[in-house]
Amino acid sequence: MNSVMGALTKLAQSAAIRSTRAASSAAIQNDMQRFRSPVMSTGNALYARYGGRSTVTVLAGDGIGPEMLKHVTKIFQFANVPVDLEEVPLSSQPTAEEDLDQALTSIRRNGVALKGNIETKFDDPTFVSRNMALRRELDLYANVLHCHSIPTIPSRHKDIDMVVIRENTEGEYSGLEHQTIEGVVESLKVTTAENIERICRFAFDYAIKYGRKKVTAVHKANIQKLGDGLFLQMAGDMAKEYSNIEFESMIVDNASMQLVKRPQQFDIMLMPNLYGNIISNIACGLVGGPGLVSGMNFGEKYAVFETGTRNTGSSLAGKDKANPTSFIRASVDMLRYLGYSVHADIISDSLFRVLVEDRLHTPDIGGNSSTSQMIDALFRHMEQEIKKQVV
Ligand code: ATP
Repeated sequence: MNSVMGALTKLAQSAAIRSTRAASSAAIQNDMQRFRSPVMSTGNALYARYGGRSTVTVLAGDGIGPEMLKHVTKIFQFANVPVDLEEVPLSSQPTAEEDLDQALTSIRRNGVALKGNIETKFDDPTFVSRNMALRRELDLYANVLHCHSIPTIPSRHKDIDMVVIRENTEGEYSGLEHQTIEGVVESLKVTTAENIERICRFAFDYAIKYGRKKVTAVHKANIQKLGDGLFLQMAGDMAKEYSNIEFESMIVDNASMQLVKRPQQFDIMLMPNLYGNIISNIACGLVGGPGLVSGMNFGEKYAVFETGTRNTGSSLAGKDKANPTSFIRASVDMLRYLGYSVHADIISDSLFRVLVEDRLHTPDIGGNSSTSQMIDALFRHMEQEIKKQVV
């Protein structure tokens, strides 16, 4: 009798183990799927494709940008990605005006760019940030960051899955500042109905397309009554056209507090430029920091892909310690945008496995792996993923 009971208990135990394993493998599949962040363009995208191959502009930027770009180049070669990278030097030196023109010409020709961050010095008030100049000249009005929890990456909160959508061209970033008299500086925050309309439309359309439930408009309309007031009013009016999407508004100070306290309440966060800069850095910090999240910039015609927090990481340059995840994910977003979703999935899923299955973590996320260890492991997983595709 005892032996029968023992056998039954063992059977029950192994069934429970199998079902726990199945549940955890389903959860991992879900997480891997989420790691393949969706990429929504604005509709009239232009990009260069000749003989089945695309050409994209690459701006390596400063700090860790050039070494990250080398890794991406090798990854693309390994995965046989039909994309040619046209590298254009864009220096942070104020004197190199023609560099900026060359970069703009190249992006206008190719339609798409992958970009490292370009350092902006604080000490020359006449020098316009190259990053800002590119966004403005190309009218890249929507900045999108998908910030979500990744298993095994240490963070204070779990189950975060939100999208930060930021107006990317105006507001405090108008670059219009002057000193009326010594000691009195006026900075103009410019808000236009036209730009609010298109960023709000982008956010609601994104919500519909990717099954998001709620849009939270973040503002400071209690103080900036006209500018942010207009943003808030227009976002609220537009919400009425999208009756399936829940809409709420939140003052930016409360939004910041809510974000660190209970980030799971947010789905899409929609906001003007400067709040977007700050909130997106908080959001990246919540899911593990600057090395993990990519950032996408869209206009009517062009798209530029970069890291979410727009750091140069100059103190990490040349040390083989930087987390390559955010840069690689930016390149994956770009492939998805160009329609190379098979290649994008191979790279994305392999990177996910490096982080989650192999637990190869660089020091910024509490590990002691090097960049190159991560890249080597990535190649191993890509090889397996490619074999699966071929079979
Ligand atoms: P400093 O501020 O001293 O010039 P930095 O240029 O490295 O250093 P930022 O580029 O502003 O600083 O980056 C902010 C922080 O994020 C730094 O601590 C940097 O090391 C870290 N960081 C940025 N990118 C990465 C990355 N890819 N992997 C790991 N840490 C990163």
